[in-house]
Amino acid sequence: MSFIDTLNVKSISELAIREKRVFIRTDYNIPLDNEGNITNINRIERTLPTIKHALEHNSRVILASHLGRPDGDRDPVYSLEPIATILAEVLERDVFFFEDCVGMGAQQMVRDLKPGQVLVLENLRFNPEEKKNSAVFARELAKMCDVYINDAFGVSHRKEASVNALPLMVDTKGMGLLMKTEIEELSKLIGLKRGEGFYSIIGGAKVLDKIAIIRPLLEVVDRIMIGGAMSYTFLAAKGIKLGKSRVEEDKISIAREIIRGAEARGVDLLLPIDHVAADSIDSVETEIYTNDNFPQDKMALDIGPETVKMYVDKLEGCNYMLWNGPMGVFEKEQFAKGSISLAKAVANLDAHTVAGGGDSVSLMKKAGVKDLFTHISTGGGASLEFLKNNTLPGIDVLK
Ligand code: AMP
Repeated sequence: MSFIDTLNVKSISELAIREKRVFIRTDYNIPLDNEGNITNINRIERTLPTIKHALEHNSRVILASHLGRPDGDRDPVYSLEPIATILAEVLERDVFFFEDCVGMGAQQMVRDLKPGQVLVLENLRFNPEEKKNSAVFARELAKMCDVYINDAFGVSHRKEASVNALPLMVDTKGMGLLMKTEIEELSKLIGLKRGEGFYSIIGGAKVLDKIAIIRPLLEVVDRIMIGGAMSYTFLAAKGIKLGKSRVEEDKISIAREIIRGAEARGVDLLLPIDHVAADSIDSVETEIYTNDNFPQDKMALDIGPETVKMYVDKLEGCNYMLWNGPMGVFEKEQFAKGSISLAKAVANLDAHTVAGGGDSVSLMKKAGVKDLFTHISTGGGASLEFLKNNTLPGIDVLK
């Protein structure tokens, strides 16, 4: 029995959906630039298999998602209307949009929907009840579903109304095809034991976000390579101070505990030995310094060439890779080299390579290796929590 069968959750392809009102919770929390323009439509593209499956069965498709953190207010920057326009282009058919996600107007739109038509509802988080997992709000949403499908892996670790309270109110429910792929690919990393060549690269900004996964990873991985801003807190735990680099002083003790935990378990925990540094995050001029000669007035913004070389050499023996978070401020060309070089090396491994995290797709695209990874998860926090608990609250309620 495969892992996914043990979950006892049906996929959309096992449900009777013909001509039904199929409410698909998608994760259209796509990246926007400072002007509110969409910078990457990967998360839209990844939901197409589920939507197309529903349309092939002549369903009436209702799409609902959150976008950004509008905090329960109507903020036009976070409207889903532009997403409806993009969907119309990629699906090559009319896609209707309604300016609310609940209420009489939304219900009327849903009632009027004909088989094979698609409706995008407005941002769920324009309603403060969504984040509160409100049963009242969920009941309003439930009025619009004959069938409930969760294809929003990236938000299924949260207990919010559209992924938690709502599915409990609908009889016919299941997972979308993206959710299924996420579970299938991530579950290949479950049950591995030390000695099987399971390595992890963890980067990004915040220590706390990643602690939840590093602790359980310590029980199963052979090697962890740390980079990004969080690595400076780990270096600080070893008494290495890097000028003005970002250190989370209140997390140094946690970093120290993780370093000790790795030692006790024989896990090879690696930290950067050199850095691409600059006066500030806005600088274009960069210099390379080691842990030993790092100047007081500079900040580290990427791993240096010696660290890249060391990490690439240390990929030897890797059979399974979990990558989460960049090695530096990869959004800026001058601080992207470390992440890109390492991503290329990982992508070319003969291994089961999985990357997760909101910006993993942008990074792997930038490195030109997006299609070389076995799987790029649409969920950062969700993928880590799934690997830790082997399920998510949003999956449990689909049973
Ligand atoms: P996370 O969401 O925790 O995976 O963090 C991703 C963010 O960390 C990216 O936007 C990077 O720009 C940022 N980041 C990575 N390395 C550094 C660094 N050395 N200094 C400041 N920010 C960084």
